[in-house]
Amino acid sequence: VVGATESKNARVKLVLLGDSGVGKSCIVLRFVRGQFDPNSKVTVGASFLSQTIALHDSTTVKFEIWDTAGQERYAALAPLYYRGAAVAVVVYDITSPESFDKAQYWVKELQKHGNPDIVMALVGNKADLHENRKVPVQDGVDYAEKNGMFFIETSAKTADNINELFEEIAKRLPQVSS
Ligand code: GDP
Ligand code: MG
Repeated sequence: VVGATESKNARVKLVLLGDSGVGKSCIVLRFVRGQFDPNSKVTVGASFLSQTIALHDSTTVKFEIWDTAGQERYAALAPLYYRGAAVAVVVYDITSPESFDKAQYWVKELQKHGNPDIVMALVGNKADLHENRKVPVQDGVDYAEKNGMFFIETSAKTADNINELFEEIAKRLPQVSS
C-alpha cells in the first residue's frame, strides 16, 4: 500500500468554549493527567497544557490546549482566544439547558469569526448525572449534525468518552485525514 509507512506528526491548537461550570477544565485535566478533582478551583487566568496521542500507523497529534476562564465573562476577549485554533471544543452540561443555549451561541460565533477550517466538536459533559438530565441526547445529536460538528457525551468524573473525544477530533483533522 502506497504511503502505509509514512508517518505524520501534527501539532494543533485546541480551545475550549462554553459556560462557566460545565466542566471544561475537568475534561482537560482528565485527558492530560488522568485525574478528576471534585474540589478543583475555577480556572484563574489562562492555563496551557499539552498532550500527544498516537493514532494507527505512526501518526501522532500533539494537542496544545488553551483553557481560560476569561471568555466566559468577557465575550469581547474570545476572538483573541480562538484565533489560530485548529480545533474548538464547545462544551455544555447535560443537566443545564442554559448551558446548551450558550453552546449554540459559541458555535455561531465560531462560524462567523473563527478559522474557516476549524474542526468543531460539541460535547455534552456530566453524562454521569443522567438522573438530572435536562438536555436530551437527541438535541445534541441534531444540533451537531445540522452544524457539521462531531458530537459526544462525556463524563470527566468517570472518564467516560474522554479519550474517545480527542481521538475522534484527531481523526477529523485535515492534516491527519488527507
Ligand atoms: P469549567 O468552568 O467549565 O472549567 O468547569 P470545571 O471544570 O471547573 O467544573 C465545574 C464543576 O463541575 C466542578 O465542581 C467539577 O467538579 C464539576 N464537574 C466537571 N465535570 C464533571 C462531570 O463530568 N461530572 C460531574 N458530576 N461533575 C463534573
Ligand atoms: Mg475552567
